[in-house]
Formats: sequence, structure tokens, C-alpha cells
Amino acid sequence: MKIISSLSDFCHWRKSLSKSTSIGFIPTMGALHNGHLSLVSDSLGDTDVTVVSIFVNPKQFSKNEDFDTYPRTLKDDLYKLRKLGVAVVFTPGVEDIYNESVESFSFEDPFLAILEGAARPHFFPGVLNVVSRLFNIVVPNFAYFGKKDAQQLLLIEKLVQLGGFSIKIIRGDTVREESGLAMSSRNQYLSSSAKQAASCLNLSLVCAKNLLLNGETNVNKIKEGMYQIINKERNILVDYISIVCLDVLVEVESVVCGPVLISLAVTLDGVRLIDNVFYDSRSRPMSTL
Ligand code: AMP
Repeated sequence: MKIISSLSDFCHWRKSLSKSTSIGFIPTMGALHNGHLSLVSDSLGDTDVTVVSIFVNPKQFSKNEDFDTYPRTLKDDLYKLRKLGVAVVFTPGVEDIYNESVESFSFEDPFLAILEGAARPHFFPGVLNVVSRLFNIVVPNFAYFGKKDAQQLLLIEKLVQLGGFSIKIIRGDTVREESGLAMSSRNQYLSSSAKQAASCLNLSLVCAKNLLLNGETNVNKIKEGMYQIINKERNILVDYISIVCLDVLVEVESVVCGPVLISLAVTLDGVRLIDNVFYDSRSRPMSTL
């Protein structure tokens, strides 16, 4: 496995590949867990060469967030990637990414401003900036993103479409702990009792899914069911519970047709957690959108 930490070395390596070599790319911020690794395994199965980037992107953290304390576990990460058979790990520095020779592309869209975009206005501009720069450097054929960060995934699909990138975005299923808690690098900040309490997020999403499967269309009633489950846990503060119509990316009051994204964000013991489920009423049981 090659570990490349400078932009020029990466570009040199990239140029050495033949046009017919298919490249799969998984951008990450490191602190790798099985959620990241399942994206890597998907790429290893689909493509000739898998590239993983590890870059804790300062632009997607606001001043009061955890950029300085974000878990950095490079040695462990490299061990895990080597074991899987990754070809190249790209670990650029800030100067490589925020370098005028690398272009970025962004766009305006109301979907940028709701849900995570409302709570963390700096976040999506920072993500789109770094992902478009990385796409221009890596020039992959396929890029893998987790449904765990559903709004990010949908915005990256827009980025590819509007920016004219010839990259196929592959959606990876959310990998969960046995308790149902979605894996996240930030779960390390939770105590074991908080981790247990956090399993109510998944339970509330399962409840929403079951209500939909049983024909409930009223979003307020679905949210009520979810709140009832979450409110059983003390110390959890709900930021939002939302149902978005995926055809138009706006929040709906009634689930009448088409696929939807049910998502939520909470703060538990000072740690912000997000989770979601995709649901398509046209294909039962739960589609794997
Ligand atoms: P991050 O390192 O948090 O920026 O995440 C890198 C990629 O891993 C993103 O595409 C995430 O959506 C994805 N990811 C994070 N957690 C999970 C998970 N539990 N299951 C599947 N993918 C995940």
C-alpha cells in the first residue's frame, strides 16, 4: 500500500495509471471504523484501484467545534486499510488542498440551508469545497459515500451533476453497532451509558418506518411516535426530526408518494448525533435506495 502525503507525489502517481484503470475513491477524515471500511470494501469489489483519503478538513468545522480534538488515529487507520488491500492512501496537508492550483466548485441550493445546513451553516460549503478539490486531484471513476450522512450524500450527488464531474456516486448502507447506534468517529466522545441511550435514535427511525409501512402518511403523527421513543431518554435534546421528499428535496407534511428521507439530529451529553433512514412507499418492504 502506497501512502502519499504530498499533492505533487499524488499527481505523479495518478498520471502513471492507464486510462483503462478504474479508480474507486473514499474520502474520509480518518478515525476509521466499520462504516468507512464497508465503503472501502465496496470499492475494492467494484474497481481496479482503491484510493482512500484521510484529511481532517478545517473548513467544515466552526470555531466552537472539535477540529483540534477530532480523533486522529493514522497508525490504526493505515493498519486497517493495508489489511483490506487498499492501493493508495492519500494524506494531504492543508497546503495541498487549499492551494490555488486545485479548483473547487460550489453551487447554491435551498437544500444546503436546511437540517444540518441550518444547524451548521459552515459545514456543507466546507464539505463541497474539499470534495470538489479532491475529485479534481484524484479523478476517480467511482466515489463512495455513506447514507449515514444522507444530506451530505445527496448534496454530493448534486455537486457531481452540476459540476459536470464524470464520477459515479455509490451510496453505502449505514453500518451500525449491535445496539443500532450508527457508527461514527464521534461516538468515541460518548460514555458507555450515553451509547446505550443513543440506541433510541435507531429505534425511533424503525418506529417511523413501521408507521409508514402500516399506511400512516401524516408526518406529525410519525414525528410524535419518534419523539415518544426519544423522550424516554433523559439528557437528549432533539434539534430536528424531518421528513424530506427525495424527488424535490423539501420537507413534507404528508408522505403521499415517492421516496423520502427521515432524518434526525440530537445532542446527547454535549455530543451531536445524526441518523436517518430512506423509505420508498412504492417499493415495500424498505427499499435500499
Ligand atoms: P467521515 O470520515 O466522517 O467524513 O466519513 C467518511 C465517509 O464515511 C462518509 O461518506 C460517511 O458518510 C461515511 N460513513 C461514516 N459513518 C458511516 C457509517 N456508520 N456507515 C456507513 N458509512 C459511514
